[in-house]
Amino acid sequence: MFKNDKLNLFLFIALIGLQALGLAALLTRFEWSYLPIILFMYFWGGISTTLYLHRYLTHRGFEMPAWLKFFFATGSAVALSGDPVTWVGDHRYHHLKSDTDEDIHSPLHGFPYAHMMWLVRKPEGFRDRSLRYAADVRKIWYCRLWEKPYFYIIPHLLVAAALYFTLGGAGLLWCLYVPMLVIYNFTWAVNSICHMPSLGYRRFETTDHSKNNFWVGLGAFGEGYHNNHHAKPRCAAHGLRWWEFDMTRYVIWTLEKFGLAWSVHWPKPEALKEVDPVSADEAGALLLFGAKIRDPSLDVSHHELQSR
Ligand SMILES: [Zn+2]
Ligand SMILES: [Zn+2]
Repeated sequence: MFKNDKLNLFLFIALIGLQALGLAALLTRFEWSYLPIILFMYFWGGISTTLYLHRYLTHRGFEMPAWLKFFFATGSAVALSGDPVTWVGDHRYHHLKSDTDEDIHSPLHGFPYAHMMWLVRKPEGFRDRSLRYAADVRKIWYCRLWEKPYFYIIPHLLVAAALYFTLGGAGLLWCLYVPMLVIYNFTWAVNSICHMPSLGYRRFETTDHSKNNFWVGLGAFGEGYHNNHHAKPRCAAHGLRWWEFDMTRYVIWTLEKFGLAWSVHWPKPEALKEVDPVSADEAGALLLFGAKIRDPSLDVSHHELQSR
């Protein structure tokens, strides 16, 4: 149904171009001195998307200090992961409509569409709907500012300029666009591969087709345990067993140990086999429309009251 919507040619060229820059690095000389910067950019851009845009901003799985939020928000902007308001709105809508005709990035509409093409063929009016679903995010000044593309690209351009003037063209390609190429495709794989009928395993009988996938989990900082996530949308951990390597979980855990994260929604051992009473659909809606949360343990304000 969305496949025939008008192509956003500018965004299509931009997304292909950014990935082409990552591939173009292979034509230039690699220096070992790039490696720490590559790893840092991959980590900063990747964890900013999973920890900040997804687990914090979309699902409010924990709280953290304002300066740390800004640090991760900036990391996601440097990697051009998508402006926070649009990202959150789109993703909450996905939880509401997972694998139905209305799901904007279900593989039901074909793999290329689920992976990348949904970004460039968004139906007319979809953005307005996403904005409503991210009304809370629009209250954050930098998220609101970054709704304007010319402000949103500033952090990216600053980092790109710094890399170009210190390491030259090859350094820029290797240190910025190679990590972005990897981050893009692992992030998109959560939408495409982790909703494919045949790739991965399901622990929970959720209403969608979500799957847990080790490889996507490895590259996407734990987000590959997507069936776990659909079953427990607000949980700060996606990997629920020791072998489900979830880097984002370990980072949040470390932040909590240093007092830099609190009110964290960790999985409860007694509820590991069950889908949360707040369904995936409701979890998307509850923050947006002030829906009543049925499970008090998932209500942050209730949690905070208890700990006082
Ligand atoms: Zn999903
Ligand atoms: Zn989610």
